[in-house]
Amino acid sequence: MLSVNVILILCSACLIGIKCNYKGEDNLSLKVLKLLENEVLIPVCPEQLGGLPTPRESSEIVGDGYMVLDGKAKVLTCSGRDVTSNFVRGAEETLKIARIYGIRSAIFKQGSPSCGSGKVYNGTFSKRLVIGDGVTTALLKRNGIKVVSEEEI
Ligand code: SF4
Repeated sequence: MLSVNVILILCSACLIGIKCNYKGEDNLSLKVLKLLENEVLIPVCPEQLGGLPTPRESSEIVGDGYMVLDGKAKVLTCSGRDVTSNFVRGAEETLKIARIYGIRSAIFKQGSPSCGSGKVYNGTFSKRLVIGDGVTTALLKRNGIKVVSEEEI
């Protein structure tokens, strides 16, 4: 673990302007960007870390992130391709980064099948949100890392 005197926070890379979302665009949040004045944010994109290309097909969980981690649900693209293993790998790699830096909290993009915290799309590609966490958020929370969405800061 890196020994530093500042508190590091993990964040969804798309929230600070990195064009890593499925459309090859960002999800810039000025609220998150402003945090950089006083905090050190470590940007991650779990879907890229899981080996998916950018741009890529949109994906949704049929269930929630905890069910995916437990092998009880899948992540499918809008054309029906099973990308569950990419999402699990991306979650594991993100957790690895958090551990390397001793990170205890994260600000993640709401609604994402990876980063969603409290809400995810319901698996029907009909823009309907349901209560649940994305795959990476679920793994981080299971490992004691606090995750909030950009809507909560
Ligand atoms: S996986 Fe997370 S960081 Fe990557 S584009 Fe989706 S919401 Fe943003």
